[in-house]
Amino acid sequence: MIKVIVIDPGHGGHDPGAVGNDLREKDLTLAIAQRAANYLRVRGADVRLTRNDDRVFHSNKAADLNARADFANNLHADYFVSIHINAGRGTGFESYIVPCAVNREAGRRQGILHSEVARVFHSAGLPDRGKKTANFAVLRRTRMPAILLECGFIDRTEDALRLKNLAFLDNVAQAIARGAALASGLSEANPAL
Ligand SMILES: [Zn+2]
Repeated sequence: MIKVIVIDPGHGGHDPGAVGNDLREKDLTLAIAQRAANYLRVRGADVRLTRNDDRVFHSNKAADLNARADFANNLHADYFVSIHINAGRGTGFESYIVPCAVNREAGRRQGILHSEVARVFHSAGLPDRGKKTANFAVLRRTRMPAILLECGFIDRTEDALRLKNLAFLDNVAQAIARGAALASGLSEANPAL
């Protein structure tokens, strides 16, 4: 059976997300998500993006987040991957699942996907901030294993330099696709990648 994987590019439309160093979170999350979707499709997944252009579902923030989760719930998706860029003067990569995840599957998948993406950051000289838990709305409301990735800090010079580099964004997208495929049991679909 074909696995449906939902990739959620954070923010969009009137909501730019975090901004800094002439970058907007909503642009970076879409660029990474679209690339990751293409790589995952090559691996045989049915990939759906919560948005494929510069928009939000709803002008109200809470309603918008609920709509993203419901989008995946209505598709009975196998995995939900939300992509964000951090801010707050830190540096590096971190990932989140809900605390006390309903089943252990979210944690198992986090272990696989996190290490793939963390390796790309490490190669670029940026630290692995670790596997974390938080009660983010999209993670709480989705009814399938779900993860939220914070891919670097937009307001940190070292991170922003990488985020302005298309080759780096592409490497992050490939790692997300590889990790999500391995986590969802798609690894045999195209072992050459
Ligand atoms: Zn965000």
